[in-house]
Amino acid sequence: MPSPTNPPAWRLPPRSTRVAALAERTFDVAVIGGGITGCGLALDLTLRGLSVALVERGDWGGATSSASSRLIHGGLRYLETGDLALVRESCRERALLLSNAAGLVWPERFVFPVHAGARVGRAKLSAGLWLYTALSLPRALGTPGWLSRADALRAVPALRGDGLRGAGTYMDGATHDARLALAVLLSAARANAVCVSRCEATAIEGASSGVAIAARDLSGNAPLELRAAACVLAGGPFTSALRACAGLGGDWIAPTRGTHVVVPRERLPTDGAVIFTSAVDGRVMFLIPWPRHTVIGTTDVDADPSAPVAPTEAERDYLLESANALAPAAALRRADVVSAWAGLRPLLRPPEAAAPSQRSREERVEREGNVYTIAGGKLTGYRSMAEKLGARIARELGRGDASAHSPTRTHALVGALARPVARPAWSRLDAAGAPLAQGIESALVERYGALAADVRAHCERTSGGTVPLSADVLAGERSWAEQFEDATCAEDFTRRRTSLAYTDPSVALD
Ligand SMILES: Cc1cc2nc3c(=O)[nH]c(=O)nc-3n(C[C@H](O)[C@H](O)[C@H](O)COP(=O)(O)OP(=O)(O)OC[C@H]3O[C@@H](n4cnc5c(N)ncnc54)[C@H](O)[C@@H]3O)c2cc1C
Repeated sequence: MPSPTNPPAWRLPPRSTRVAALAERTFDVAVIGGGITGCGLALDLTLRGLSVALVERGDWGGATSSASSRLIHGGLRYLETGDLALVRESCRERALLLSNAAGLVWPERFVFPVHAGARVGRAKLSAGLWLYTALSLPRALGTPGWLSRADALRAVPALRGDGLRGAGTYMDGATHDARLALAVLLSAARANAVCVSRCEATAIEGASSGVAIAARDLSGNAPLELRAAACVLAGGPFTSALRACAGLGGDWIAPTRGTHVVVPRERLPTDGAVIFTSAVDGRVMFLIPWPRHTVIGTTDVDADPSAPVAPTEAERDYLLESANALAPAAALRRADVVSAWAGLRPLLRPPEAAAPSQRSREERVEREGNVYTIAGGKLTGYRSMAEKLGARIARELGRGDASAHSPTRTHALVGALARPVARPAWSRLDAAGAPLAQGIESALVERYGALAADVRAHCERTSGGTVPLSADVLAGERSWAEQFEDATCAEDFTRRRTSLAYTDPSVALD
């Protein structure tokens, strides 16, 4: 663990100072929406030398950006749809994140079991994995491999043995999505962006001289007004409603809901992540290792962005049925589900009706007067999306550095370790097929990266701070989240600064 520099050399200014700063001047750009897209854009523009305000109506990353599968991946499955440019770009972004967010993003081994008669057999899989590797050159994460039947069963002990031919393996990346969004946000704030959460934009008025944004500070319920030369709407699945606030039409987004369920790791241990096609409907799915749990995801069903987002019983059953068909020895039942979450994919509305899994993961950007809208994309590609739009805005406003290559290509995020890290021990199994143990030290490093020692020292200085709340969270992390990570309520801490709500829901409720 790195040595502590407590208190951290840089810290977010108090919220009241940031709220006051919103109204004090006319910014170059106001970004609305603090998911990964808006945070990424705020960082890009700020590093280009523009003055930026960023407002988010909930918590940072509180919507889709904390409800993903937490994979930083090239998107192996997009090879089947021939989206090679998307795969290539995502592989490049994966490599940049493994370096610029080292520790917050880590390499993960993926296992792809192959059974007799599978739609994707060994030959097609091997060809696909080599193409995937070639598309990630010159930053490939190793070469694909093949596990014998016995080794595949060692990697996923509950796997269906009959008809099992073996498994392909390859490397991709994983992260804690909400913490990645927070690291991007803190990096933008460190570079001088004025960032305020719990602040909702209610009306956006563009004129030739600039944009006026009426907002509401939801913590004090006070109205606010901010001004900027240009404004970017980064509302994710809520883009159409956000555009309506700006008097702009067009139903941009056809969101789909994706649900994950969390089960105890000992019920379905895996050595790394598993990618497989559901026996129920042939969709690509994942088993994702967490220190003490396995996550099964995901679903893809049409959803209404104005309705509350919650997993349905049918989705839970579908996920369990799919996992049980792959790994019958797990024999998962509803009672095994520790927790579940759901999120809305901000998928662009296709010209004609297309099946949810077929809809494009691409991004769309439009400019209408001084208001830009950006939507679509993936967590993995946030930096690249921001880079393209950041260069365009700098050029069109005639301010700051408009080069095509953004400073974010080499900018280390807050909390990044100096060097890329290895795959965490807990995502591996021992010879008997049990997950390798994880200590609190490594849990802190995986949450806080280079700041882990600071967090540890903070917990030691706080009364009762070193008391464990669970096997991998210390009580003192709560006050760290409040003081240094802009957490304003228990849910911010249990769902996004940590994963307590998913790993230990009864502790989180307490
Ligand atoms: C189930 C699922 C699994 C996924 N898995 C992966 C994965 O493994 N890897 C990957 O790369 N991608 C994945 N994705 C995609 C990825 O999560 C999203 O593309 C990404 O998080 C979208 O970020 P965003 O900032 O555009 O949207 P959001 O995170 O939803 O952010 C938009 C923000 O705008 C705010 N907002 C809206 N209106 C206003 C307003 N009026 N005022 C202020 N704020 C406002 C909202 O509160 C919200 O926080 C997954 C998505 C889902 C749903």
